Amino acid sequence: MHNAALAALGLGWLYVPVPLKGEAFERTVRALAASGFRGLNVTVPHKEAAAALADQRSAAVEAIGAANTLTFADGRIAAENTDAGGFLDALGESPRGRRALVLGAGGSARAIAWALREGGAAEVSVWNRTPQRAAALAQSLDVRHVDRPEPADLIVNCTSVGLGGGIATAEAIAALGLATTEPPSALVDLVYGDAPSPLAAWVTDAGGRFVDGLEVLVHQGARSLAGWSGQPAPVDVMRTAAIRLHYAPQQTARDA
Ligand code: NAP
Repeated sequence: MHNAALAALGLGWLYVPVPLKGEAFERTVRALAASGFRGLNVTVPHKEAAAALADQRSAAVEAIGAANTLTFADGRIAAENTDAGGFLDALGESPRGRRALVLGAGGSARAIAWALREGGAAEVSVWNRTPQRAAALAQSLDVRHVDRPEPADLIVNCTSVGLGGGIATAEAIAALGLATTEPPSALVDLVYGDAPSPLAAWVTDAGGRFVDGLEVLVHQGARSLAGWSGQPAPVDVMRTAAIRLHYAPQQTARDA
């Protein structure tokens, strides 16, 4: 996705994977900063460490306590969390005044609950399979936690239910405690992968709008790239590349 975008921008840059162990994280990041890298995307389990080592943190990073993007400039390391803004971009409409329900209490739920609160949602409620985690997250962000999902205009699935595919709609609905909840007018499922989301039919059959996790992935990546390059990211190019990689692997292999 990023390399397709870099080619389209004609920057002559490359985006490469750098697998590393936790104990070497900070040392490796500083070495990359000193060796010509422009920045990094950081994923689980390094997002908190990325936020901690930075010289500058955005408001999102300060509130969420985790960074997915580091930018190296003038000998300094700046940390950003584009999961939050990328989610709002993918949603494609303001959450202002809407009742939002966040399912899950892990790292992504924290970023999404903060984004919804900052985006002006009238109510942000957090539900989680393990209620204590929802309560702790809600308390730290000053939003609500609920013991069972309540009706909402917007639902965001931030759990790993559906990851890996092979789960029916009814099974996913039951795992998320939604069996007696009316479908919302919009639902975002952060999970993406080889199979369509089991939650898509639940919301679209009732006339609601469904946003796939791949769209969120594309927009958080676009924000990272725009930060590194100082140019608008070619979102359509990134989306096409991401869809080919995740949803049409046979075609990708044939083209290669
Ligand atoms: P995480 O920190 O590991 O949290 C996982 C959450 O899922 C926890 O709240 C956990 O509940 C819940 N969960 C797991 N299995 C469950 C089940 N069978 N039934 C009900 N709840 C269950 O993960 P994360 O980093 O927040 O990511 C969550 C998902 O979002 C992952 O699938 C990830 O790939 C996806 N994601 C996508 C994007 C994107 O750009 N599209 C970005 C970030 C994350 P407990 O607390 O009870 O264990």
